Amino acid sequence: MDIHTLTIGAARKLIENREVTARAMAEAHYAQIESQDETIGSFLTLTKDRALKQAEHIDELATKGDPLPPLAGVPVGIKDVLMTRGERTTAGSRFLDKFVAPYDATAVQKLEAAGAVCLGKLNCDEFAMGSSNENSAFRPVRNPRDISRVPGGSSGGSAAAVAAGFSVATLGSDTGGSIRQPAAFCGVVGLLPTYGRVSRYGLIAFASSLDHVGPFARTVKDAATLLEVIAGRDPQDSTSADVPVGSYAAECGRDVKGLRVGIPKEYFGEGLDPEIREAIERRIDGLREAGCEIVNVTLPHTEYAIPVYYIVATAEASANLARFDGVRYTSRSPQVKTLADMYRRSRDEGFGAEVKRRILLGTYALSAGYYDAYYRKAQQVRTLLTRDFQNAFASVDAIVTPVTPTAAFKLGEKADDPVAMYLSDIYTVTANLVGVPGISIPCGNNHEGLPLGVQILGKHFDESTVLRLAHAMEQDQK
Ligand code: GLN
Repeated sequence: MDIHTLTIGAARKLIENREVTARAMAEAHYAQIESQDETIGSFLTLTKDRALKQAEHIDELATKGDPLPPLAGVPVGIKDVLMTRGERTTAGSRFLDKFVAPYDATAVQKLEAAGAVCLGKLNCDEFAMGSSNENSAFRPVRNPRDISRVPGGSSGGSAAAVAAGFSVATLGSDTGGSIRQPAAFCGVVGLLPTYGRVSRYGLIAFASSLDHVGPFARTVKDAATLLEVIAGRDPQDSTSADVPVGSYAAECGRDVKGLRVGIPKEYFGEGLDPEIREAIERRIDGLREAGCEIVNVTLPHTEYAIPVYYIVATAEASANLARFDGVRYTSRSPQVKTLADMYRRSRDEGFGAEVKRRILLGTYALSAGYYDAYYRKAQQVRTLLTRDFQNAFASVDAIVTPVTPTAAFKLGEKADDPVAMYLSDIYTVTANLVGVPGISIPCGNNHEGLPLGVQILGKHFDESTVLRLAHAMEQDQK
């Protein structure tokens, strides 16, 4: 068993055939974590008791010859923005350093109900705000493919854990690219489901009109399998959609002949690393050879996506983070004298610099004098971005773009320049503003051996076509 390349299907088969016990599978992954994660920094908390109890339960089923659930014994890790009952859940923030979740997020509960073994909680940028994982209050994560570089963010721990052989799959969250960008930087698959496809019950909110929960995996088929498990309407989340869940794994391997694939020129202009452009062009040629029709499309408002995103996301963050007041969720500054003092000191000590910056930007954009000029205007432009996609999807089934303008950058390279960091989200934020599904899959390496990614975006609730195309591209290793 090579734990670097193990897929869900292979792991489950080993357990079903009783070649490896679920317990031994979990222990092998913990051994890998123990030997390597001091360097990488992907886990904030290990949940060993919980994992081994679940593994033993799976082993009992296997011994009895009972039918096994779809993720039986598969080791998974959970981004630390998702609640895990009885376990520390920090969102990468000092504020929640001692917070123990009182319930399970629906996505976590569904994974475990499907037999997955939850190894622990994964490092991330504080409250999922960041593109490099350097905003974690605890420690940065290093990219397993080159430890001088960032793994991307904010779900850096989730991507790194899959790349480093710590976990077969993981869960992350994506508000403006936080699943797709780290997947691209670490050379793994990251899936952004349609807004409403996966319940966000138990996700610590960042920007509620943009937040999605989704999986990281080593193959497109594994990501499809995970989506099948976690998707669906949840009465606990009124924004989850009552739309039938597809047989996504079965889409992998279906012929892509006749599908119309759009290439938006705005995503291939200035600022895109030529090696990424060439790698994506080769994949597009592959789709053409497989019988897809390649069509030029235009998404004319793309240049406004970053400013719109950083107004809407910060405005919503400032509202969501108001709940961290020093009264609830365990963190209160000691020795405060007045109520105002308690708010001020608790927040000052609990939040890191990037989170404070966003709260300030967000409250400013929502303030009486500036609401119309910033927040309302941003929402209007968001509608134009949605129309861009509606127009494009009138003539194509999916859209292919880069995920990031460059491969993984060095730790510290952009840490002191928030605007440069924000600009690196140029190809990912629009999908969140519009609510469409997307996937990032590996697309070869650059001359330094760093992984590159390609993104496929689809129509609302059409993850099936996205996965079908992604699987076809994944098989094309030219
Ligand atoms: N990098 C973006 C930000 O900092 C996206 C983060 C995310 O998707 N959670 O807001």
